[in-house]
Amino acid sequence: MGVFTRLAKTFRHGIHPLGHKEYTEQLPIQRMPFCARYTLPLNQHIGVPSSPIVEVGQTLTRGQLIAEPAGFMSTALHSPVAGKVLAIAPRRHPNGQMLESIEIEADPFNDQAFCAESFNVEQDIDFSTLAIEDFIAQVQQAGIVGLGGAAFPSHVKFSLPQGKQIDHILVNGAECEPFLTNDYRLMIEQAEQLLKGAEIARQVLGARSILIGIELNKSRAIKILKACANSKTTRIVPLHVKYPQGAEKMLINAALGLTVPNNKLPRDVGVLVNNVGTLVALAQYFDQGMPLIERIITVSGPGVERPANLIVPIGTPIRELLRFCGGLKQSTQEVVMGGPMMGSAIADLDAPILKGSSGILAFTANESRTPKEYPCIRCGRCLEVCPYFLNPSRLIRLAGARDYESLQQNHIMDCVECGSCTFTCPSGIPIAQRIKAAKSEIRHREKLNKQ
Ligand code: SF4
Ligand code: SF4
Repeated sequence: MGVFTRLAKTFRHGIHPLGHKEYTEQLPIQRMPFCARYTLPLNQHIGVPSSPIVEVGQTLTRGQLIAEPAGFMSTALHSPVAGKVLAIAPRRHPNGQMLESIEIEADPFNDQAFCAESFNVEQDIDFSTLAIEDFIAQVQQAGIVGLGGAAFPSHVKFSLPQGKQIDHILVNGAECEPFLTNDYRLMIEQAEQLLKGAEIARQVLGARSILIGIELNKSRAIKILKACANSKTTRIVPLHVKYPQGAEKMLINAALGLTVPNNKLPRDVGVLVNNVGTLVALAQYFDQGMPLIERIITVSGPGVERPANLIVPIGTPIRELLRFCGGLKQSTQEVVMGGPMMGSAIADLDAPILKGSSGILAFTANESRTPKEYPCIRCGRCLEVCPYFLNPSRLIRLAGARDYESLQQNHIMDCVECGSCTFTCPSGIPIAQRIKAAKSEIRHREKLNKQ
């Protein structure tokens, strides 16, 4: 591993929380058995909710289109199982709100094999000559979104303004959030599919190279991908273990040494970043015509009986997932969707798994305890760790004074809510949460001003 360590790169600032990957990193991906009911919220991606095209009582095949994109900033939704539409009505979303959803009852007599004939995907496509508009339309119809957690529609990411050129496809294999190992397992078990998806993206966009950024705690994935990749086009970039290296701008800085300026996007420096799972979804669609109807999830944490890495149909109730993993320990206090740094607590275990759900973590009182809060001692630690070079202590002072103009002048909107400042604060101040609340107030005021 010495050579990888010598070559490893990283970004400035950031933190080193304990990885806790040992719970699941050795556990191969298993397919979770199908359960009785699935709930698919119409807005499980960033943008406009999908628009239902099915009726209550309608019979569905697995992979059938159930909701169409409602405009460009929207994407398609497909049935994860063969079954019947039970309801189209508000249902509990993991964020706690009641949101319009399609509820499906699975057909217990169906073998739930994927129904490929409903998809008309051409074989042997030459991606270097495929019209970008056709590619974008297909990705939108496949319902593919960023699987790293953000659930940003992939077809929007692939749509470049006139004159923009992508030089590098940067594959995000950092998986810097503690506990999560779903991307790691995918990289070692589905390496060929991942490389295929990355190559599709490279050819479609005419990019020069593929770079795969992987942290050093995933040495097996580095070795496997290095052995399988085409060395003419693809380079594996070992990264030091640091949080939040999976944030797009941090990853670009670490892997390529490029800085994406404020208010600019990765494409402005010629880079397109995609999570490893997203690229596998792309390959699965163009190989088999399989839309995004399932994903890999890590179920972990000290509060879960049998941690696992699972392939789970989108819409599976979290309760079923936990039941399959032996249930929660009595000492469990909190269940979180996503990683412990950026994920959010789940209020209702009957809420479903979404396209963007990377993990379900169960924590006991030891990990969930909120530290007692003390006044800021101006130690400057939050400044030292902020990867965006913000001044978090000043931001929370301004937020406390409701000085929204100064907050914007101090670039509050650049905060990615990574939680590094909160993690490091010796006074136990929930800095990131306060910044998040101030950002949402600023957005609300902007909306009111426009009306
Ligand atoms: S201010 Fe925002 S971006 Fe900076 S460390 Fe805190 S949460 Fe992360
Ligand atoms: S880390 Fe906490 S105590 Fe130190 S300056 Fe920042 S907000 Fe204040």
